[in-house]
Amino acid sequence: MAAELLAELSRFVHSRADDADRELLPNEELRGFLRRHTKSDQRFFKKAELIGLYREFVETERVQPDPRLFRALRVKPRRTLSGVATVTVLTKPYPCPGKCTFCPTDARMPKSYLPDEPGCMRAERHQFDPFDQVDARIRTLHRNGHPVDKIELLILGGTWSSYANDYQETFIRRCLDAMNGTESKTVAEAQRRNEDAPHRNVGLVIETRPDHVRPREVRRLRDLGVTKVQMGAQSLDDEVLRLNQRGHDVAATRRAMDLLRAAGFKLVLHWMPNLLGSDPQKDRADFRGLWSDPSLRPDEIKIYPCSLLENAELYDFWKRGEYRPYEDDELIALVADCKTQVPEYCRINRVYRDIPSTHVVAGTRINNLRQCVQDELRASGRECRCLRCREVVKHEVVAEELVLRQLPYETGCGRELFLSFETSDDRVAGYLRLWLPGDAVPDLQIPELEGAALVREVHVYGQARSLGSEAAGAAQHAGLGRRLLEEAERIAGSAGFRRVAIIASVGTRGYYRKRGYRLDGTYMVKDGV
Ligand code: SF4
Ligand SMILES: [Zn+2]
Repeated sequence: MAAELLAELSRFVHSRADDADRELLPNEELRGFLRRHTKSDQRFFKKAELIGLYREFVETERVQPDPRLFRALRVKPRRTLSGVATVTVLTKPYPCPGKCTFCPTDARMPKSYLPDEPGCMRAERHQFDPFDQVDARIRTLHRNGHPVDKIELLILGGTWSSYANDYQETFIRRCLDAMNGTESKTVAEAQRRNEDAPHRNVGLVIETRPDHVRPREVRRLRDLGVTKVQMGAQSLDDEVLRLNQRGHDVAATRRAMDLLRAAGFKLVLHWMPNLLGSDPQKDRADFRGLWSDPSLRPDEIKIYPCSLLENAELYDFWKRGEYRPYEDDELIALVADCKTQVPEYCRINRVYRDIPSTHVVAGTRINNLRQCVQDELRASGRECRCLRCREVVKHEVVAEELVLRQLPYETGCGRELFLSFETSDDRVAGYLRLWLPGDAVPDLQIPELEGAALVREVHVYGQARSLGSEAAGAAQHAGLGRRLLEEAERIAGSAGFRRVAIIASVGTRGYYRKRGYRLDGTYMVKDGV
């Protein structure tokens, strides 16, 4: 019965998704099918159940492997579109050195998190234990049909840099232990083991405050294997920062960005409209500064409209009539205007923070802001050109149809080149971020970076097949990552650099070794480019 259902489901999926442009079967279509094909007791099949059956039947050779069917069953397929699964973990509750007016406090959570946010509930269930959080998440992702051989680890919670060094080291070692399936005594040992572990770490993200980023801290983050840093810029107006008690100025954000870029980190900034002391017009001007100021220009951005929460100090300002949350239409219009300003090298990860609406005292509670903003843009004939809006959602692209583009831009102390492979329908199939240091680079005392051009990120979505390999299962990896890397080496060489250094996660070292790189310090380097 189950085998017949899978066979019928396979026929259905292939009939609906035969067109190469429709690789992702819309959820409603699959749900419709499952409603028509219930179990003998009339209950519905769950996707995870069918994934389990599929795996079991393929293993026992009762059905043929069918990648398209398997993809259609995957829960929230966009999550691992590029083959990388993100595992989010929370650090233990701990006070933050910040006193931000808008930031909620809950003794059960690290500062700024609320106990009923989904990721927080998961962390609390595991008593914030790093090993258990990672282990459980990998299992769930696997059960839901996602690939889990490449893991991006996202560590959330307050200000990472304010936790004790011992705690940081234990936390990361235990996360790696969970991916490795073995225990290590030190972070370095766990990192070595991860190079060929079943779940390789291909990205490690922490969040911190700009005023905590110093050269020593930058070196420490590298030792811990961090590859991406999220920071709250929140505003580019010193007066707004002061009113909201951020405890740092815009110059600190610029300095931190320059330091982190010089060490090759991928850079995510958080920006908050509707802060105390701002208004929609000021916010529009403020947002422009993120792109006009060469020291900022982040790779990714999270727009977090300020939410008014009862357990934040901002609440008292609101009660005294000194703060006004924006109305829905004001916020939609503002975020739509912001989106159109974002350059093609940047990805907008979020346009709202997923706070359960019961906590929001006043102001907007729309949790589909992204959709409302997209509708607004469409209605006014505008579009967002950010990476997220342009990344391919297909699983295969035709290599010969891709065009390699170069987008150069200046940064605080060097020149950045955003190289991208684009499809004929204006989608990004893969990209690479190359940074060419200028003359006034901050001294980080990282000897392996001396005289090196830096590859800060290589990202390929899905797979590329070559023309002539149309037959099912014949998709071949056309090596977009390799081609991007070769182009970066060529550009770096002709710009006078003799060395290329890549801020590679521990789990990607093997990939770069095969391409002639060797480990030097915490970077993969190649000389004589
Ligand atoms: S720095 Fe971040 S976590 Fe700390 S109080 Fe400010 S917003 Fe909250
Ligand atoms: Zn966008």
